[in-house]
Amino acid sequence: MNAELRARTLRHAYLRLSLMLAPALGVLWLALNGHGAAAVLLFCTVLTTMMIGTLVPRCALFGRMIKRLPAEGNLALLTIDDGPHPEHTPAILDILDQHGIKALFFLVGERAARHPELVREIVVRGHEIGNHTQTHPATTFWMLRPARLWQEIAGCQQTLTALCPEHPPRFFRPPAGHHNAFTALTARALGLRMMLWSARGFDGVLQEVPFITQRIASRLQPGAIVLIHEGTPVAVEVAQAVAAMMKASALKCDTPPASLPFGHHQVAA
Ligand SMILES: [Zn+2]
Repeated sequence: MNAELRARTLRHAYLRLSLMLAPALGVLWLALNGHGAAAVLLFCTVLTTMMIGTLVPRCALFGRMIKRLPAEGNLALLTIDDGPHPEHTPAILDILDQHGIKALFFLVGERAARHPELVREIVVRGHEIGNHTQTHPATTFWMLRPARLWQEIAGCQQTLTALCPEHPPRFFRPPAGHHNAFTALTARALGLRMMLWSARGFDGVLQEVPFITQRIASRLQPGAIVLIHEGTPVAVEVAQAVAAMMKASALKCDTPPASLPFGHHQVAA
């Protein structure tokens, strides 16, 4: 990936980091001047704000994100994270074909490199691929420093673009939805838009298919962005149930339109 673009993005990120450290000077000044309580209050306020902005997926404090499609047009989008998977991807592709649904697959770069034929099959069958990092470091992604973030996002972009040069990813989804102050600017520098969701059933951690589908059903409305996963014990069962539910709705389930507004006023579930 372009070295100059990388250097410029990292400079921007480290400038932002230095600005974010400014409150630390305020804490130090207050502490050194005998305002201990105020120093603790400022420290806790800044720390809490940072943690909310980083760990709450729906919080757009650190950058704009797409959480819903426009309600006009009666559209809904099915997004499928964490593939490709050698067993689940072919089964899910068949399910989508049976129900006439097009989806957006957020793929992990190193998994895509292991199964390039599956990546091409996704695209050949009319679906879209998105960037879901190169190695999917789900538990640590929120605290990655700018250089590692670049490796993850640019690495996946490079992998997927090499496999499908005609259809490079347009969207980026952070693992578990966690994103820090440098994530959105890194994605933007790479021409990607960050996409979260508005309807999920926690199928990444739960295995109760009725609960998962009911939770998604209660949020399935015009503009919904639905999230399900590959690689779980119930992946195919969930895909089958959700695809049937989306097909039965009056919603048009297709890949994202060419342009999408960022929806600050909308919330992710
Ligand atoms: Zn994921």
